[in-house]
Amino acid sequence: MKTLTLLQPESFAYSDTEKPSSLLPNEVLVKVHKIGICGTDYHAFWGRQPFFQYPRILGHELGVEVIAIGSEVTEVTVGQKCAVEPYLNCGECWACERDLGNCCENLQVMGVHTDGGMREYIKVPAHKLHVSEKLNYEQLALVETLGIGAHAVERANVQSNDLVLVVGAGPIGLSVLEFVKLRGAKVAVVDRNTQRLDFCLDHKKADASIVANDQTIVQILEVFGGKMPTVVLDATGSPASMHQSFNYLAAGGRLVFVGLYQGDYQFNDPSFHKRELTIMGSRNSKPNNFKEIIAAMETGELSVDSWISHRITFEEVAEQLPKLYTEPSLVKAVISWE
Ligand SMILES: [Zn+2]
Ligand SMILES: [Zn+2]
Repeated sequence: MKTLTLLQPESFAYSDTEKPSSLLPNEVLVKVHKIGICGTDYHAFWGRQPFFQYPRILGHELGVEVIAIGSEVTEVTVGQKCAVEPYLNCGECWACERDLGNCCENLQVMGVHTDGGMREYIKVPAHKLHVSEKLNYEQLALVETLGIGAHAVERANVQSNDLVLVVGAGPIGLSVLEFVKLRGAKVAVVDRNTQRLDFCLDHKKADASIVANDQTIVQILEVFGGKMPTVVLDATGSPASMHQSFNYLAAGGRLVFVGLYQGDYQFNDPSFHKRELTIMGSRNSKPNNFKEIIAAMETGELSVDSWISHRITFEEVAEQLPKLYTEPSLVKAVISWE
Protein backbone atom coordinates (compact mmCIF):
# COMPACT_ATOMS: atom_id res chain seq x y z
CA MET A 1 0.00 0.00 0.00
CA LYS A 2 1.08 3.57 -0.61
CA THR A 3 2.69 5.21 2.42
CA LEU A 4 4.21 8.62 3.04
CA THR A 5 6.82 8.91 5.80
CA LEU A 6 8.41 12.02 7.24
CA LEU A 7 11.97 10.67 7.54
CA GLN A 8 13.36 13.74 9.27
CA PRO A 9 12.56 17.47 9.19
CA GLU A 10 11.95 18.67 5.63
CA SER A 11 12.27 15.19 4.13
CA PHE A 12 9.27 13.11 3.02
CA ALA A 13 9.55 9.73 1.29
CA TYR A 14 6.89 7.69 -0.51
CA SER A 15 7.13 3.92 -0.21
CA ASP A 16 5.22 0.71 -0.74
CA THR A 17 4.49 -0.98 2.58
CA GLU A 18 2.66 -4.14 3.51
CA LYS A 19 -1.09 -3.81 4.04
CA PRO A 20 -1.88 -4.70 7.70
CA SER A 21 -3.28 -8.23 7.89
CA SER A 22 -4.02 -9.79 11.28
CA LEU A 23 -6.34 -7.90 13.63
CA LEU A 24 -6.58 -8.09 17.41
CA PRO A 25 -10.11 -8.98 18.66
CA ASN A 26 -10.94 -5.28 19.30
CA GLU A 27 -9.18 -3.83 16.25
CA VAL A 28 -10.57 -2.54 12.97
CA LEU A 29 -8.85 -2.19 9.61
CA VAL A 30 -9.87 1.04 7.88
CA LYS A 31 -9.17 2.58 4.49
CA VAL A 32 -8.11 6.22 4.74
CA HIS A 33 -10.15 8.40 2.34
CA LYS A 34 -9.45 11.98 3.49
CA ILE A 35 -6.79 13.52 5.71
CA GLY A 36 -6.87 17.02 7.18
CA ILE A 37 -3.54 18.81 7.52
CA CYS A 38 -3.04 20.80 10.71
CA GLY A 39 -0.48 22.93 12.53
CA THR A 40 1.16 19.87 14.10
CA ASP A 41 1.92 18.44 10.65
CA TYR A 42 3.53 21.66 9.45
CA HIS A 43 5.54 22.00 12.68
CA ALA A 44 6.71 18.38 12.41
CA PHE A 45 7.79 18.98 8.82
CA TRP A 46 9.88 22.01 9.77
CA GLY A 47 11.29 20.28 12.87
CA ARG A 48 9.54 22.66 15.25
CA GLN A 49 7.27 20.21 17.04
CA PRO A 50 8.65 19.63 20.56
CA PHE A 51 9.41 16.00 21.58
CA PHE A 52 8.68 14.79 18.04
CA GLN A 53 10.45 11.62 16.90
CA TYR A 54 11.42 10.77 13.32
CA PRO A 55 10.75 8.86 11.16
CA ARG A 56 6.98 9.28 11.50
CA ILE A 57 3.90 8.71 9.33
CA LEU A 58 1.81 11.87 9.88
CA GLY A 59 -1.98 12.16 9.67
CA HIS A 60 -4.36 12.40 12.64
CA GLU A 61 -7.43 14.05 11.05
CA LEU A 62 -8.99 11.13 9.24
CA GLY A 63 -12.15 10.27 7.35
CA VAL A 64 -12.11 6.47 6.96
CA GLU A 65 -14.07 3.43 5.77
CA VAL A 66 -14.31 0.18 7.73
CA ILE A 67 -12.72 -2.66 5.72
CA ALA A 68 -12.44 -5.51 8.25
CA ILE A 69 -13.25 -5.98 11.94
CA GLY A 70 -11.67 -8.05 14.73
CA SER A 71 -13.53 -11.02 16.24
CA GLU A 72 -14.98 -9.06 19.21
CA VAL A 73 -15.84 -5.77 17.51
CA THR A 74 -19.46 -4.67 17.94
CA GLU A 75 -19.12 -0.86 17.51
CA VAL A 76 -18.83 -0.78 13.69
CA THR A 77 -19.57 -2.91 10.64
CA VAL A 78 -17.78 -3.27 7.30
CA GLY A 79 -18.47 -0.42 4.88
CA GLN A 80 -19.32 2.23 7.49
CA LYS A 81 -17.85 5.73 7.29
CA CYS A 82 -16.13 7.04 10.41
CA ALA A 83 -14.13 9.82 11.99
CA VAL A 84 -11.11 8.64 13.98
CA GLU A 85 -10.45 9.78 17.54
CA PRO A 86 -6.64 9.67 17.33
CA TYR A 87 -5.94 9.88 21.08
CA LEU A 88 -4.78 6.44 22.17
CA ASN A 89 -5.10 6.44 25.96
CA CYS A 90 -4.00 3.60 28.27
CA GLY A 91 -7.33 3.19 30.12
CA GLU A 92 -5.49 2.41 33.35
CA CYS A 93 -3.80 5.56 34.70
CA TRP A 94 -5.32 7.91 37.28
CA ALA A 95 -6.41 10.31 34.53
CA CYS A 96 -8.10 7.56 32.51
CA GLU A 97 -9.74 6.21 35.66
CA ARG A 98 -11.45 9.60 36.08
CA ASP A 99 -12.66 9.75 32.46
CA LEU A 100 -9.83 12.10 31.43
CA GLY A 101 -8.46 9.97 28.61
CA ASN A 102 -7.64 13.22 26.77
CA CYS A 103 -5.02 13.86 29.50
CA CYS A 104 -3.87 10.21 29.82
CA GLU A 105 -0.41 9.95 31.41
CA ASN A 106 0.63 7.57 28.62
CA LEU A 107 -1.20 9.30 25.79
CA GLN A 108 -0.14 8.39 22.24
CA VAL A 109 -1.62 10.57 19.53
CA MET A 110 -1.77 8.85 16.14
CA GLY A 111 0.29 10.71 13.57
CA VAL A 112 2.25 12.45 16.34
CA HIS A 113 3.58 9.91 18.88
CA THR A 114 2.72 6.81 16.83
CA ASP A 115 2.34 6.38 13.08
CA GLY A 116 -0.79 7.97 11.63
CA GLY A 117 -2.94 7.87 8.54
CA MET A 118 -0.83 9.10 5.62
CA ARG A 119 -1.15 5.61 4.11
CA GLU A 120 -3.90 3.65 2.43
CA TYR A 121 -4.89 1.43 5.36
CA ILE A 122 -4.46 1.64 9.12
CA LYS A 123 -5.52 -0.38 12.17
CA VAL A 124 -7.54 1.46 14.83
CA PRO A 125 -9.09 0.26 18.14
CA ALA A 126 -12.83 -0.08 17.51
CA HIS A 127 -13.85 2.33 20.30
CA LYS A 128 -11.81 5.11 18.64
CA LEU A 129 -14.10 5.10 15.59
CA HIS A 130 -17.14 7.40 15.40
CA VAL A 131 -19.64 6.41 12.72
CA SER A 132 -21.81 8.64 10.56
CA GLU A 133 -24.31 7.43 7.98
CA LYS A 134 -24.73 10.91 6.51
CA LEU A 135 -21.41 12.79 6.47
CA ASN A 136 -18.85 12.49 3.70
CA TYR A 137 -15.20 11.61 4.28
CA GLU A 138 -14.09 15.21 4.03
CA GLN A 139 -16.50 16.28 6.76
CA LEU A 140 -15.42 13.33 8.88
CA ALA A 141 -11.77 14.33 8.50
CA LEU A 142 -12.57 17.70 10.11
CA VAL A 143 -14.22 16.28 13.22
CA GLU A 144 -10.93 16.00 15.16
CA THR A 145 -10.05 19.69 14.67
CA LEU A 146 -13.59 20.64 15.66
CA GLY A 147 -13.20 18.55 18.80
CA ILE A 148 -10.48 20.90 20.04
CA GLY A 149 -12.94 23.82 19.93
CA ALA A 150 -15.87 21.83 21.28
CA HIS A 151 -13.89 20.68 24.30
CA ALA A 152 -12.50 24.16 25.02
CA VAL A 153 -15.98 25.71 24.93
CA GLU A 154 -17.23 22.92 27.18
CA ARG A 155 -14.36 23.67 29.60
CA ALA A 156 -15.34 27.37 29.60
CA ASN A 157 -18.97 26.39 30.19
CA VAL A 158 -20.09 29.15 27.82
CA GLN A 159 -23.70 30.32 28.38
CA SER A 160 -25.88 32.33 26.01
CA ASN A 161 -25.51 35.49 28.14
CA ASP A 162 -21.69 35.35 28.16
CA LEU A 163 -19.60 37.91 26.31
CA VAL A 164 -16.93 35.84 24.61
CA LEU A 165 -13.63 36.82 23.09
CA VAL A 166 -11.71 34.32 20.95
CA VAL A 167 -8.06 35.22 20.49
CA GLY A 168 -6.56 33.81 17.29
CA ALA A 169 -8.49 33.22 14.06
CA GLY A 170 -6.57 30.22 12.72
CA PRO A 171 -8.25 26.80 12.36
CA ILE A 172 -8.29 26.20 16.13
CA GLY A 173 -9.75 29.66 16.80
CA LEU A 174 -12.34 28.96 14.11
CA SER A 175 -13.18 25.66 15.70
CA VAL A 176 -13.71 27.45 19.05
CA LEU A 177 -15.91 30.09 17.36
CA GLU A 178 -18.22 27.43 15.90
CA PHE A 179 -19.15 26.12 19.35
CA VAL A 180 -19.44 29.51 21.01
CA LYS A 181 -21.97 30.42 18.28
CA LEU A 182 -23.86 27.16 18.85
CA ARG A 183 -24.28 28.18 22.49
CA GLY A 184 -25.81 31.48 21.40
CA ALA A 185 -23.30 33.81 23.08
CA LYS A 186 -22.12 37.11 21.63
CA VAL A 187 -18.60 36.54 20.33
CA ALA A 188 -15.79 38.67 18.95
CA VAL A 189 -12.53 37.44 17.46
CA VAL A 190 -9.16 39.14 17.67
CA ASP A 191 -6.15 38.53 15.42
CA ARG A 192 -3.35 40.49 13.77
CA ASN A 193 -4.16 38.97 10.38
CA THR A 194 -7.01 40.95 8.76
CA GLN A 195 -7.51 38.30 6.07
CA ARG A 196 -8.34 35.77 8.77
CA LEU A 197 -10.67 38.25 10.49
CA ASP A 198 -12.47 38.94 7.21
CA PHE A 199 -12.98 35.22 6.73
CA CYS A 200 -14.65 35.01 10.18
CA LEU A 201 -17.00 37.90 9.40
CA ASP A 202 -17.75 36.87 5.80
CA HIS A 203 -18.76 33.39 6.93
CA LYS A 204 -20.65 34.66 10.00
CA LYS A 205 -18.36 32.85 12.43
CA ALA A 206 -18.19 35.87 14.77
CA ASP A 207 -20.34 38.93 15.58
CA ALA A 208 -17.38 41.30 15.47
CA SER A 209 -13.68 41.33 14.68
CA ILE A 210 -10.86 43.18 16.38
CA VAL A 211 -7.45 43.85 14.88
CA ALA A 212 -4.81 43.17 17.56
CA ASN A 213 -2.82 46.34 18.20
CA ASP A 214 -2.08 48.70 21.10
CA GLN A 215 -5.76 49.69 21.13
CA THR A 216 -7.13 46.16 21.55
CA ILE A 217 -8.79 46.83 24.93
CA VAL A 218 -10.48 49.98 23.63
CA GLN A 219 -11.88 47.97 20.72
CA ILE A 220 -13.06 45.17 23.02
CA LEU A 221 -15.00 47.67 25.15
CA GLU A 222 -16.55 49.15 22.02
CA VAL A 223 -17.67 45.77 20.72
CA PHE A 224 -19.20 44.69 24.04
CA GLY A 225 -20.93 47.97 24.89
CA GLY A 226 -18.40 49.12 27.50
CA LYS A 227 -18.12 45.72 29.21
CA MET A 228 -15.19 43.32 29.31
CA PRO A 229 -15.63 39.68 28.21
CA THR A 230 -16.77 37.06 30.69
CA VAL A 231 -14.94 34.33 28.76
CA VAL A 232 -11.68 34.55 26.82
CA LEU A 233 -10.44 31.56 24.82
CA ASP A 234 -6.87 31.95 23.59
CA ALA A 235 -6.05 29.81 20.56
CA THR A 236 -2.72 31.37 19.66
CA GLY A 237 -0.03 29.46 21.55
CA SER A 238 1.83 32.76 21.62
CA PRO A 239 3.20 33.81 25.04
CA ALA A 240 2.75 37.52 24.26
CA SER A 241 -0.91 36.98 23.34
CA MET A 242 -1.58 34.67 26.28
CA HIS A 243 -0.22 37.27 28.70
CA GLN A 244 -2.44 39.94 27.15
CA SER A 245 -5.52 37.69 27.33
CA PHE A 246 -5.29 37.78 31.13
CA ASN A 247 -6.06 41.52 30.96
CA TYR A 248 -9.21 41.15 28.85
CA LEU A 249 -11.49 39.57 31.49
CA ALA A 250 -14.41 40.94 33.50
CA ALA A 251 -14.88 40.01 37.17
CA GLY A 252 -15.63 36.32 37.52
CA GLY A 253 -14.19 35.71 34.06
CA ARG A 254 -12.89 32.40 32.73
CA LEU A 255 -9.71 32.24 30.68
CA VAL A 256 -9.11 29.07 28.65
CA PHE A 257 -5.77 28.33 27.01
CA VAL A 258 -6.47 26.21 23.96
CA GLY A 259 -3.07 26.86 22.38
CA LEU A 260 0.06 26.19 24.40
CA TYR A 261 3.70 27.19 24.42
CA GLN A 262 6.77 25.61 25.97
CA GLY A 263 7.44 27.94 28.87
CA ASP A 264 6.23 29.42 32.16
CA TYR A 265 3.11 31.54 32.49
CA GLN A 266 3.13 34.42 34.99
CA PHE A 267 0.34 36.71 36.13
CA ASN A 268 -0.17 39.47 38.66
CA ASP A 269 -1.84 37.92 41.70
CA PRO A 270 -3.76 41.02 42.91
CA SER A 271 -5.21 41.40 39.43
CA PHE A 272 -6.18 37.71 39.46
CA HIS A 273 -7.72 37.86 42.96
CA LYS A 274 -9.45 41.20 42.53
CA ARG A 275 -11.47 39.81 39.62
CA GLU A 276 -11.77 36.27 41.04
CA LEU A 277 -10.67 34.76 37.73
CA THR A 278 -10.54 31.13 36.65
CA ILE A 279 -7.70 30.07 34.36
CA MET A 280 -7.82 26.68 32.71
CA GLY A 281 -6.11 24.55 30.11
CA SER A 282 -7.92 22.58 27.44
CA ARG A 283 -6.28 19.54 25.90
CA ASN A 284 -7.42 17.48 22.91
CA SER A 285 -11.06 16.42 23.20
CA LYS A 286 -13.21 13.60 24.53
CA PRO A 287 -15.34 10.86 22.95
CA ASN A 288 -18.58 12.74 23.69
CA ASN A 289 -17.27 15.71 21.68
CA PHE A 290 -16.89 13.48 18.61
CA LYS A 291 -20.45 12.20 18.99
CA GLU A 292 -21.92 15.71 19.47
CA ILE A 293 -19.99 17.19 16.55
CA ILE A 294 -21.09 14.45 14.17
CA ALA A 295 -24.71 14.90 15.30
CA ALA A 296 -24.55 18.70 14.80
CA MET A 297 -22.96 18.30 11.35
CA GLU A 298 -25.59 15.75 10.34
CA THR A 299 -28.44 18.16 11.12
CA GLY A 300 -26.62 21.00 9.33
CA GLU A 301 -26.48 23.04 12.55
CA LEU A 302 -22.71 22.96 12.19
CA SER A 303 -21.18 23.44 8.74
CA VAL A 304 -17.49 23.77 8.04
CA ASP A 305 -17.43 23.28 4.27
CA SER A 306 -16.26 26.90 3.87
CA TRP A 307 -13.13 26.08 5.88
CA ILE A 308 -11.53 23.98 3.17
CA SER A 309 -9.35 26.34 1.17
CA HIS A 310 -7.06 23.76 -0.45
CA ARG A 311 -7.52 20.22 -1.72
CA ILE A 312 -4.48 18.17 -2.74
CA THR A 313 -3.90 14.55 -3.69
CA PHE A 314 -1.81 12.09 -1.73
CA GLU A 315 0.89 12.17 -4.42
CA GLU A 316 1.16 15.97 -4.07
CA VAL A 317 1.66 16.07 -0.30
CA ALA A 318 5.48 15.88 -0.23
CA GLU A 319 5.78 18.78 -2.62
CA GLN A 320 2.75 20.87 -1.60
CA LEU A 321 2.69 20.64 2.21
CA PRO A 322 5.71 22.94 2.73
CA LYS A 323 4.29 25.49 0.28
CA LEU A 324 0.81 25.47 1.82
CA TYR A 325 2.17 26.66 5.14
CA THR A 326 3.06 30.08 3.76
CA GLU A 327 -0.03 30.36 1.54
CA PRO A 328 -1.90 33.51 2.73
CA SER A 329 -5.29 32.10 1.73
CA LEU A 330 -4.78 28.88 3.72
CA VAL A 331 -7.56 28.03 6.14
CA LYS A 332 -7.63 24.24 5.98
CA ALA A 333 -6.07 21.81 3.51
CA VAL A 334 -7.45 18.32 2.93
CA ILE A 335 -5.71 15.39 1.21
CA SER A 336 -7.58 12.85 -0.91
CA TRP A 337 -6.49 9.73 -2.75
CA GLU A 338 -8.08 10.58 -6.07
ZN1 LIG B 1 -4.89 18.47 14.14
ZN1 LIG C 1 -4.19 6.62 30.80
